[in-house]
Order: sequence, then C-alpha cells, then structure tokens
Amino acid sequence: MNLFLQNAYTSTCEATIHSLTEIDGFTAITLNDTIFFPAGGGQLDDKGFINDYEVTQLKKKDNVVHHFIRLPNQLKLGDIVTCKIDFNRRFDLMQQHTGQHILSQCIFRVLHAETLSFQMKEETSTIQIALTDISDLAAALMEAENLANQIITDNLPITILNIPIQDSLHYNLRKEPLTQHIDEKGQIRIAKIADFEVIPCGGTHCTTTLEVGLIKITDIKKQKDKITIDFLCGQRALKDYQVKSDLLKSITALFNTNLAEVEQRIKKQLLELETLKGNLVQKNKELLSYKAQYAMNSSLALGDDTQLVNQAFNDLTLNDLKLIAKTMIQNQGYIVLLTNNNDFIIAKSPNLALDIQAIFTKISRLLAIKGGGDTNMIQGSTTHLSEFTQQFVQELSNITASSH
Ligand SMILES: [Zn+2]
Repeated sequence: MNLFLQNAYTSTCEATIHSLTEIDGFTAITLNDTIFFPAGGGQLDDKGFINDYEVTQLKKKDNVVHHFIRLPNQLKLGDIVTCKIDFNRRFDLMQQHTGQHILSQCIFRVLHAETLSFQMKEETSTIQIALTDISDLAAALMEAENLANQIITDNLPITILNIPIQDSLHYNLRKEPLTQHIDEKGQIRIAKIADFEVIPCGGTHCTTTLEVGLIKITDIKKQKDKITIDFLCGQRALKDYQVKSDLLKSITALFNTNLAEVEQRIKKQLLELETLKGNLVQKNKELLSYKAQYAMNSSLALGDDTQLVNQAFNDLTLNDLKLIAKTMIQNQGYIVLLTNNNDFIIAKSPNLALDIQAIFTKISRLLAIKGGGDTNMIQGSTTHLSEFTQQFVQELSNITASSH
C-alpha cells in the first residue's frame, strides 16, 4: 500500500520485501507498504533509507513504487525492513506543493488565468499560467500573493477525499481529473482546501493552510504564449528573505546610506560614472592625438612625398593604436607601422598607391601571422613582432629603391 496517500506525515514504517531486481549495479525493491513518494504531478521525490541502505532513486510503475539501493546489499525476498524518509525534506515538499494549490487558485480568482503546468525544483518552484490581458500584471500578481497569504492565515483545513469518478461532478473542481488520477476501483483522489480549492491530486499535502507558512512570488516572466512565475513557500521563503535582507544591508553599507535612499544613490553614482567615462574617452582622445603628433615628428622620409612612422606604444591597446593610425593617415603621404606588446597596425594615407595588402600577405606567409583589414589599414597580432617590423620596413625600402 502507498501509505503516503493515507498520511503524508508518516516518516517511518516496517514493510516486507515483495520483489528484488538487479539493474545496472542497483537493486530495485518493491514492498507491501511504502512511505516513499516517487516524483509525480510536479512534486519532487522523497529521500531516505531502507534499513541502512540509502534509497538513491524511486520509480512508479503500474502504481507500484520501485526503490533503488546500491549493490551489494544483504536484503532478500520476504525480509521485514525499516523504511525512513527525510521528513524535513518531505515537509518542505508538502509546503511547496500545498502552496502551489493555494497560489494557483488565487491567481485564478484574481487574474482569471489557468495554471498550465507546475515544476518543483530543489531551490524554487515554478508555474506557467495562461496569458492574460491585465495591464498591470505585477500589481495583479501581488494581489493574488496577498490573497494566498491571507488563505494561509485563515488556517483552512485540507482534506483528502477518495470518491467515485461520477461523483466528481458534485464538486467544483479547478481541473478535470486525468486518467492517472483514477485508481483501479474507479475512484479519484481529491485534495480539498475547505471550499476554496478542490482539485484531483495524487501528491502529499499539509493538513492546514497555516502549515505552508508563507508564499512569496520571486520572479515573473512574460513570454509569448504564457507567463512563468517562480515562487517559494515556508522555510524557503524565509531563507530567501534572510539572504536578500543581508545583501541589502551590505549594499546600503557600501553606499553609506539607508534602505529608503539606496536606489537613488546607486542611480546617482551610475550617472556620475557615465559622465566620468565620457570625460575619460575625451581625454584619451586628446592624449592619443598628442602621441600621434609626437610620433609623426620623428617620421622617416622614404622619398620626396612619403613618410614612414614606425613606433611602438607598449602601454596602448590595439584600439588606441587604430585611433592613432586613423589620425595619422588623414594627412597625405604617410605609411604607418604601430605596435604594442602583441598587436600591430599597418596603414597608409589614401593618396599613396602602395599595396599594403600585398606586403602583408607576403610577410604573413613567412611568419604565420594572423590579421586583416582593407586597402588603407590592416590590424593583427603575432608573437614575432620584431621580425614582422623588420620585414615590413625591409619590404618598404625594396619598393622605394626599385621605384627610384
Ligand atoms: Zn496536491
């Protein structure tokens, strides 16, 4: 018998082993009675022990729970064993599961939106609800959240009914029963939270709404065809509050202010940062223009109307080198070779007929250098910077010599 359906609070039981099957290093055990809830209906599975053997996995097949423990073990058919579940975990799952019923009913009442699906995870739980045309979704969900917490405070009794399927018409069920809810006797299991929420369900529930403790929506995402809502119940909600409260305390201390003013303070600092960034960009531009002028002053004449600027700037980024090169080739007659520790830029004034792409292709084949650009500027990086520089200057002097 699946005892978890009778009483969700039973945390230990004695049971007789009905079958043992060895599968891939595990033994799958079935018992005459079990308190282990296998995952289902969005709820997570239980953890626990059979005697001293940890139950690593639970699977339900034809309404029978299969408990997996590792091999080797000493268990055999007919043994009477002690089952023990991690009740702290079970109670947490009961809180999340019961909380979901309450929240879904509140959302239905406030937003008239159906719950489409429910997933419980180790940290948080999620429901997807149907899209609604409510303009202020956040405010409407807050109203549903408030109502959910009122239902908790109202301490409503939660009962489980097993009724013939034909009698379900007499109940105002939020959802139609599915085939999985109907047992071999043609009965369905209904979770009934007073007259507030009545729904077919095979999960484990608290016995009063008060036991759920607290319900808090933590995230809302509006998607194309649905709305996804994350929420926490009970201890999970309290823990979340503690973490966020501590974080806010640290942030207000960092900004040397209080909770009421911290948002304004952060906005103000972000604005200041933007202004400073703008100023820095402008100053950097000016600095680069001086550096460009300085390097051009020590350029080398390659002919009557051609100058070579060959300069290393090890403290500058590739982007800075690019900006300097751009400034330089705005003047007529310049060939530019700029480097930092890893990168290079080669560039020329558009009025020069020199084919820098051909020179680059020739050298890059010799030294296996990566780079690319256009007819006036090429950038790249290499671990052979000095060889690259020498080769480039050599190629230039060959071309200059042959043109005289
Ligand atoms: Zn349920």
